[in-house]
Amino acid sequence: MRTVVLGGGESGTGACLLAKKLGHEVFLSDKGNLADKYREVLRQNQIDFEEGQHSLDKIYSADLVIKSPGIPENNPVIEELRRRKVEVISEIEFAGRHSSAKMCCITGSNGKTTTTLLTKHILDTAGMDAGLAGNVGFSLAAQVAENAHPLYVIELSSFQLDGMYDFKADVAVLTNITPDHLDRYDFKFENYINSKFRILQNMRAEDLFIYGYDSDVVREKVESLSIVPQAAPFTYLDKEDCAAYMDGNMLVAKESGRVFSIDKNEITIKGRHNVYNAMCAILACMRLGVSNEKIAEGLKTFPQVEHRLETVLVRDGVTYINDSKATNVDSAWYALDSMTAPVVWIAGGKDKGNDYSVLFDLVKEKVKTLVCMGLHNEKLIESFSPICEVVDTDNLADAVKAAKAHAKPGDVVLLSPCCASFDLFKSYEHRGEMFKEEVRK
Ligand code: ADP
Repeated sequence: MRTVVLGGGESGTGACLLAKKLGHEVFLSDKGNLADKYREVLRQNQIDFEEGQHSLDKIYSADLVIKSPGIPENNPVIEELRRRKVEVISEIEFAGRHSSAKMCCITGSNGKTTTTLLTKHILDTAGMDAGLAGNVGFSLAAQVAENAHPLYVIELSSFQLDGMYDFKADVAVLTNITPDHLDRYDFKFENYINSKFRILQNMRAEDLFIYGYDSDVVREKVESLSIVPQAAPFTYLDKEDCAAYMDGNMLVAKESGRVFSIDKNEITIKGRHNVYNAMCAILACMRLGVSNEKIAEGLKTFPQVEHRLETVLVRDGVTYINDSKATNVDSAWYALDSMTAPVVWIAGGKDKGNDYSVLFDLVKEKVKTLVCMGLHNEKLIESFSPICEVVDTDNLADAVKAAKAHAKPGDVVLLSPCCASFDLFKSYEHRGEMFKEEVRK
């Protein structure tokens, strides 16, 4: 068996390890440069690889190709492989073919990482042996090869799902769907929705599908399909026929005849979106056999997730919050929605064709000053200056200084950019780290 792996990041390197272990003849090709740690792993395991180029003869002679989720379907190499009828799959699909572990899979436009980490934290609290895999940064294939677990919690992007065919989830979570990544889906929202719903394929009647009832796109799609697994909708409404719902401040969840409830204020992570994320994790863990007591303990001890509504410090009565991961309008909406004090809001960056009007009501209600931080702030200034005070800056240090100057004791300074970070920073992590550094200064 000749297996070619395209893309040498976490998932590609992991796929090589598994293919090697299975006795395949393995070749990895990456058009760009490999990170040192992956190059080292490939060398140590005597895996044949190249970087900075694609040797097409070697690639086209493969029996099986495992493609990094970063490579789009319209890449000429992929198109040629398809034409030659070479099987092209994702790393998760490959790993799933060689594991009989239980798979708890989490996808959606927003909330994936938080829900995945929270689910894993609750399982850890209960002393269950679960692997953490997928988009959160750990290869599933590498674990299947070297450190197998009986259960995996896997964050799945739509790009991973696109390369999945026979993979079966035992528990699937679909948090919500809002337009994102449309450049990879022929600019058709429907294609992106269908990609997310691939999580359902191969699921059986005894499996559990947890989905966001309040996400119109998800609910309407579910209603148009005949869903095979048991469906568990969750909602922020007081709607007892959903599997998880709110009763005043109480979050109530029901699964297989068992009822769990907790005051939402007892959960460490705050805001309506985190109630949603908690509902997903609770329902999944109930299904996976965690006791009510351990679920509650996990919810009360979950540490905050870096760059996601992360409290940096409180100084002179002002709380500074880093929500650098809010790279789209919807995530910034939830960040603002969860604020309970007047907000000095730092936003801006690379605009992805944003429609800011959905934020107007919330900004009117919660934001006293918007500090713009970006190279092109015109659209933000134009959109929000009729609603609140707006300050224009083009770098982080000035933005933090301006925020400090405009904040009074009791206020919150919130970095929730609702834009990509690439105008001033390498990544959202870089942006969040620089913000924390400036705030501490
Ligand atoms: P993802 O992994 O899907 O990008 P994260 O858990 O990393 O999601 O959260 C990214 C951002 O999206 C957070 O900063 C937060 O503001 C927002 N967010 C988190 N959970 C949700 C949710 N359930 N619905 C909407 N927005 C959310």
